[in-house]
Parts: sequence; structure tokens; C-alpha cells
Amino acid sequence: MSTILEATDLTKHFRSGGGLFHKPTIVRAVDGVSFAVRTGETLAIVGESGCGKSTVGRLALRLLEATSGSVKFEGKDLASMDEDALRGLRREMQMVFQDPFSSLNPRMTLGDIVGEPLWLHGMGSARERRERTRELLSIVGLRPEHAQRYPHEFSGGQRQRIGIARALASNPRLVIGDEPVSALDVSIQAQVINLLEDLKDRFSLTLVIIAHDLAVIRHMSDRVIVMYLGKIVETAPTAALYAEPLHPYTRALLAAIPLPAPGLRAERKLLEGDIPSPANPPSGCRFHTRCPFAQARCREEEPALRDAGGREVACHFYETLPRADAERAVAIP
Ligand code: SF4
Ligand code: MG
Repeated sequence: MSTILEATDLTKHFRSGGGLFHKPTIVRAVDGVSFAVRTGETLAIVGESGCGKSTVGRLALRLLEATSGSVKFEGKDLASMDEDALRGLRREMQMVFQDPFSSLNPRMTLGDIVGEPLWLHGMGSARERRERTRELLSIVGLRPEHAQRYPHEFSGGQRQRIGIARALASNPRLVIGDEPVSALDVSIQAQVINLLEDLKDRFSLTLVIIAHDLAVIRHMSDRVIVMYLGKIVETAPTAALYAEPLHPYTRALLAAIPLPAPGLRAERKLLEGDIPSPANPPSGCRFHTRCPFAQARCREEEPALRDAGGREVACHFYETLPRADAERAVAIP
């Protein structure tokens, strides 16, 4: 399978605060992240808020400049592209944002919102753009005559459909969804996920779905990247990850998925400890302050992401930990 997007050693440090009497803090939002997205797959990037996953999504589309590292789209380095080349590439890579309430301009009609990328990229005549816009609205399950209406007239789920129609307008090959359903009611989430899956097949898209837990992406992703405090801690094919999570953090995330059996509800509370600040990440393994298996070495030495047979894991001790089926008994302090 070919690679559509490749990120190498991506780093994004933000400055925060600072003034006359104190230095600004450096927040290491993303700290040396490398991964490849294969053409046609659905790749999930998962982690708690503050782990850097949304930043990775923005860096991947160069909506944000990296502090260091590179992103290549089909072998072309985004950092070396001028504005023209980048604009051409933007047709190929689109983003669906988390919040369908704030990401749509309330003063624009649906027709203008969905049709704007066509206009920006100079695609078609005015008449063709109007027709295409109406077609896009019906592709995402809205009515063509909705083109005259405004976002506030629609529900959250419908607004996310508008966002998806806009993302599809330029015929992209890669779509990154930054928590595309987490602002929606649970009953609506499945509909939007089904829509994304249908569109993926229909338009041969490659999808990257960013999520804060492992529940939403279970049935739609082919592979999962798990991030913790700016680093990748585990990558694996989805089935393998669910069958046997290797990293203690992944195990805790999986154990935190709501279970249908009411008797097991108490076990959802496994990841309650606060995530440390990325401005001051723990030494060694960044997960050591919450890891039930941490040992002295974990505080001193950072574990590298290493091959674990078709998957990767960053833990000094993953081979010798108690098996993951004992995970229901694992409690994170
Ligand atoms: Fe836990 Fe140590 Fe593995 Fe980190 S390296 S996940 S602290 S056992
Ligand atoms: Mg986010």
C-alpha cells in the first residue's frame, strides 16, 4: 500500500505567558512524532485532551507551522512549497472540525459555505459551482434547497454534515476529522460516522480521524495511533490493539470505554488522574506518574517507540507486564 502522507519527527512547541519578571513557558504540544498514512486507510489518532493530537492534525495539513520535522504529501515536502503550490495541495487535503457550531460562518448561507472552496480554487463556472453545491448538499443527506438557508437553522448533526460537504467540495483525497462527532449527541454520532464511512468508499478517500477515546473509532479505523503528552506511545492495527493493547496507557484507555454490562460500570473510572502539563512533562516515560507498572528506570529513561511485530510500543517493560486480559483489575491512581 502506498503512503499518502508521511510525518517525520514532527515537533511543535508553543510559547505561553512570560513577562517582565518571568520567562515564557515552552509547551511541548507535539514532541518528535513520526507516522505514515497509507493511501485508502482510515487511521485513528487517539488520546486525552492535551496530548497533541489536534496539533498533529493541523501540522499535517500545514494549517500550523511545525517547530521542526517534516510532512510530505505523496513525497512532496509541504515546508518547501510556496503559496501557489500549497493552495493546489489544499484541494487534496481537507479538514472537518470538531465544533460544528463555531466552525461555520453564521452570516453565510449553506450554499456559500459549501461552495466557497470551489470559488477559492477556481473550480468551474458560477453555474457549475451552484449545481455542484446542491449536489454536495444531497450527498451528505441535506436538501439542495437548503442552499439558501443559514447554519443556525440546523441541528448539530446537520451542521456537521454541512462541514463535511464543504470539506468534500474540492474533491480531496485525504480528509482529517478533528473529533468530528465529539460535540454531537451520542444518538447522532453513529449517523455522522456512517456518513463518513460511506463517503470514504464512494470517493476513495483516505481518512484520519482524531478522537479522545477508543469507543468512537473502533469500527471505522484500520489502524490506531495512541498519543500521550505529545508523544506516540503505541501504534497497531485496530483489531490487534483491541485484542491485546500493549502499552499501559492504551490498556487504561480501553478499560475506560463504557461497557454495556451495568455491573462493570465502576471500572470506567480508570483514567481519572490528571494528565500532567505538557509545559512540564514528567521525566523519563511521560506516563510514569499514572502508570501502575512504573519502576525506577521509567522515571529516568525515556522509552523509544520500538517494533513489536507489525505494531509499535514505547514502554520499557511491555513484554513482561501482566497480560492485558487482567486489565480490568488495573487501576490508574
Ligand atoms: Fe509504565 Fe514504565 Fe512502561 Fe512507562 S515505561 S508505560 S512508566 S512501565
Ligand atoms: Mg483537540
